[in-house]
Amino acid sequence: MDEWASKIDENTRFLYGEMPSNPGQAFFDLEKVAELAHRHGIPMIVDATVASPALLRPLAHGADIVVQSVTKSLTTSGFGIGGAVIARKNLPSTIDNDGMKADFGMYIKALPNRDNGPNLSPMNCILSLNDIRTLRSKMDLMSRNTMAVAKFLEQHKHIEGVDYLGLESHPLHELASKYLVLVDSEFDDIYNKKVNRYGHLMSLRVNGGAQATRDVFDAFQRIFRATDLGRIKTVATIPAISTHSQQGEEGRIEAGIPSNLIRLCVGAEHPDDVIKDLNQALSVLDGKKIKSTSPEFSAGGASSAILTR
Ligand SMILES: *Cc1c(COP(=O)(O)O)cnc(C)c1O
Repeated sequence: MDEWASKIDENTRFLYGEMPSNPGQAFFDLEKVAELAHRHGIPMIVDATVASPALLRPLAHGADIVVQSVTKSLTTSGFGIGGAVIARKNLPSTIDNDGMKADFGMYIKALPNRDNGPNLSPMNCILSLNDIRTLRSKMDLMSRNTMAVAKFLEQHKHIEGVDYLGLESHPLHELASKYLVLVDSEFDDIYNKKVNRYGHLMSLRVNGGAQATRDVFDAFQRIFRATDLGRIKTVATIPAISTHSQQGEEGRIEAGIPSNLIRLCVGAEHPDDVIKDLNQALSVLDGKKIKSTSPEFSAGGASSAILTR
């Protein structure tokens, strides 16, 4: 909280946070940070893409504006691209624009969106709307599948570590449990109580460094290798050679992205099929002489950096 507060001055227009973050699964206490923003008369903006509205509804916790990638879990087929902005009315803001503050959603629809034209094509809309109808049940299923996969990997001899907010071993598990709740679970016949679900994004760190990680990755047969997430099928990527390839080694260490990290987004397949594929891929390391940590990180301890994010 002190760090958030120390960054605010008279030029600060808003506070912005991604929760959980991709791929680091950072998480923060939204209610407290939103209160801090409001004490300074500025809005709290949250990117809740990774959780989706099925698991996290930031407006209910004090956020003023939510941005969601519709490309990800909301269009689970992965066949469309889109985004959404959700805003409460009467925003706190130090900007002198009464219309914008009164109804931010209508403001961006009627002015910047109209003028700049980033609207969806009809086919794209159909694909997204169709998938949104089943979002809740898919996020429930994919979260349960991810938990099964994370528990399997946690025990595996070729795995240095697993980062998943659902695991009790994750340092932010308790905080995440305050916020990540399957929508309406307390009202349905299956659960009848508030049920925590932690989403489908997790990461694993492979013993033996960058090449061993690449060898495991290239051995996936069922798991799709793609720089994407939030799909109905399981997808995996190595951020160091894809999403974060341009940062360079130093930037990646700062961001907590070691070269032995695989980002895994578990889909709606039978979890045993995903586990089987991971197991056969990890078996390429059987009998190989491997060091327990990637050599380029042995001094700096990047794996602990990931845990402290
Ligand atoms: C992918 C992603 C985005 C960007 O979404 P696009 O639809 O690909 O533009 C924004 N925020 C988070 C957290 C993401 O994972």
